[in-house]
Amino acid sequence: DGIEQPSPPPARAGKPRVAFYWNASCGGCEEAIVDLGDGFADLLEKVEVVLWPVALDYKKKDVEALPDGGIDVAFVNGAVRLTEQDEWAQLLRRKARTLVAFGACAHLGGVVGLGNMSGPDEILDAAYRRAPSIASGDGVLPGQPVRAGGHDLSLPVLLSRTLPLAEVVPVDYTIPGCPPSPAVVSGALERILAGALPPRGAVLAPNA
Ligand code: SF4
Repeated sequence: DGIEQPSPPPARAGKPRVAFYWNASCGGCEEAIVDLGDGFADLLEKVEVVLWPVALDYKKKDVEALPDGGIDVAFVNGAVRLTEQDEWAQLLRRKARTLVAFGACAHLGGVVGLGNMSGPDEILDAAYRRAPSIASGDGVLPGQPVRAGGHDLSLPVLLSRTLPLAEVVPVDYTIPGCPPSPAVVSGALERILAGALPPRGAVLAPNA
């Protein structure tokens, strides 16, 4: 079961502010937005896109500076695998009046959820420590400090398992599919932008 969500703050005037964000994903759900074709151009005329890392420059602090509820709809694809993705899920939940789990990975864990067949250490071994292409096995691993661009940073830590978005924060609606088809996405967008929505918690699929 998902986490219960308190009532959203009141709507703002003007074009709806929309955010697209990706957690642990393959990029296919981002492609699904572009695959709307002419519908994509129509969408860009109807909304103000305030966050879309795959296409627009962004800074997390700019999102943090928005008032709570300052984003009308946030579409989040991908499962939650890293501490950083957990933080983004919490941030977008605070900032968005409506949070949508976009695609099978955000909805149910999807392909990324296959990682739950192994523990985090097994995954790090296979990908970073013992892969044939790793010469020394002493590279930087998630959670370890690293210096880059003159800054001391630490890489995000793997969570103990891959989580669907609704296991991290309350989710208002789900758009299913891997990736969601243009027909499903455009139908869901129309309903969201028109405010013609079923009760919170619903899956926005044709005939649903
Ligand atoms: Fe990729 Fe499918 Fe996951 Fe979307 S739902 S991020 S297309 S694997």
